[in-house]
Order: sequence, then C-alpha cells, then structure tokens
Amino acid sequence: MTKTNMHIHSEYSWDCEMKLEDIARILVENGVKYAGITDHVEFDREDMMYVRRKFSQRDHEINRLNEQYQGKLTLLQGVEISEPHWYPEQVKMLTDVFAFDFIMGSLHNTDNLKASTNKRYVTYLYYREMLKMIEAGQIDVVGHLDYINKYYKEDDSNYSQVQEVLEAIKEHNQIIEINTSAERRAGLNLFPSIDKICRYKLVSDYVTIGTDAHREDELVDNMEQAEFLSTEIGLKPVIFEKRKRIIL
Ligand SMILES: [Zn+2]
Ligand SMILES: [Zn+2]
Repeated sequence: MTKTNMHIHSEYSWDCEMKLEDIARILVENGVKYAGITDHVEFDREDMMYVRRKFSQRDHEINRLNEQYQGKLTLLQGVEISEPHWYPEQVKMLTDVFAFDFIMGSLHNTDNLKASTNKRYVTYLYYREMLKMIEAGQIDVVGHLDYINKYYKEDDSNYSQVQEVLEAIKEHNQIIEINTSAERRAGLNLFPSIDKICRYKLVSDYVTIGTDAHREDELVDNMEQAEFLSTEIGLKPVIFEKRKRIIL
C-alpha cells in the first residue's frame, strides 16, 4: 500500500510548531509518499488577512519542498477548517483565493455543547451540528467523525442519527478520514470507532488516513493499524489533488 498521511499540522497551525522541512524529512525517512498538510483555520481566532498571509507563505514553502523531494514525497495543500458552516463567506473567499488540494471540515468547538451534563444529549447535539456542516457542502473530508468521544469513554451516539450523518456524507460526495490520534488523545482505538468505520463502508469505498500530527513523534503514529483496517474492510485510501479524489 502506498503510504499516505492526509492529516498533518505544521507551524502554520496555532497549536503546532513543526517546520515543514522537518516534517518532509521525517516522512521521507518513513517512506510516506503523499502527505496532506492540514493546518487549522479557526475564524473565531484568526482574521482573514492573517489566514491569507499564512497560506501564501506556506504555498511557497510547499512548492519548494515538492521540488526538493520530487519522486519521493508530495506535500498536498490541505486545510482543516473548524466549523466551516458557521463562516460561509470567509470559507468561500479563502477557497477562491487558494487552490487547496482538499478541505477538511471538523467540529472542535464543543465547549458550548458540554454545558449540558447529559452526555447522550451532548452527543446528539454534536451529530446534529455535524449534519449541518456536511450539508453546507463546503468540504471534501469530514475530520475525526466521532471526536466527541474524546470526552466520554463510552459511545452514546444514536444509531439512526449516525446513519443519517453517514448517508449525508455520501450524498454530498464527501468522505471520512481514519484518524489515528484517538489512542494518544483519548485511549480510544480510532476516530471514528471501528464499528462506525464498518458502517461507513456500506455507504462509501473511500477514506483518507491521517495521524493528526502536531509533533514529530506523531507523524507516522499508529498508521499501520489504520492501513490494516482499511485493507481488511475494503476501504481504499485516497489522496486529493485540486479537490479531485485520487485512488492510489
Ligand atoms: Zn481536528
Ligand atoms: Zn487536526
């Protein structure tokens, strides 16, 4: 299987200090051929000027590294936008200006949900928000589908609500990622859980695999498990170029 890691942060994310040249070197050492750099965009903490400046800098750097590592590693221009459906104009402006290879949408802003102590209700609100994000149709990949489980050790999701979310993903031509950060972040297996990945297979054949790396020791963290699982289940890992899905 061609090694891919489609969820990596760099110093262009507010919570990460990794330099792109260090990321590229380590990925090459580990045989990763395609890497999606998915820096955060959080419009509640970053203004448009800042976001545009950081991506034009990153653009130059990625192009330079792609020349340097030609034939060994391709860095893809990704982005992980928090709650993109809350910022339709900003997202449109950003994606008009930059030719991203793919756009990941994620729900991170769960503090307001956690105001309730009823975890079944919080989980319900989380998936309701997720459905809105998917239906807004701005994204290619849904980030860490059941991230809400980071707070709760057991899964309190409603079967038919998750089904509705999975079907909306298919309907809007989006896919999910298998995100390996669940183990180090929450002692869980993967985001999403294996049973949800199996259910997802009934609506789609494609996933991205990503470690959600913020540090060097997370760059290939637990990737074998995600690769093994996708092979066993029959899901094909893909990459994106200019927002087109490419099956490797
Ligand atoms: Zn995330
Ligand atoms: Zn991330």
